[in-house]
Amino acid sequence: MTTTKHHPADLTPVTDMEQVRERRAKALLEWRDELGGQWAVALSHGLPNADDLAYEIEVVERSIGDAHPSMFDAHFSEWIVRDAGRLHEPGSTPASCAMCDVAREGGAA
Ligand SMILES: [Zn+2]
Repeated sequence: MTTTKHHPADLTPVTDMEQVRERRAKALLEWRDELGGQWAVALSHGLPNADDLAYEIEVVERSIGDAHPSMFDAHFSEWIVRDAGRLHEPGSTPASCAMCDVAREGGAA
């Protein structure tokens, strides 16, 4: 005499995977945003790593585009506008620039 137990477990993984996907997408977006900020600072201050950052941004954007095409489409123009808005003259001290902060605190005396 044998009894077979049915596990309801095979219903749950789908939502787990979806959550993992969403968390990963969010992390990629945040990383893209962080890189965009660093790139704008590097370009504004003539730092030599601007090209490296631009390349890294391209890699992250491609990851987003491959895994989440609709998310990429929704954000792409926003990224361009936001990064362009972050470019500035050194010393014009926008709130979010670490390089300008350093110049203001140390070099300006
Ligand atoms: Zn700056």
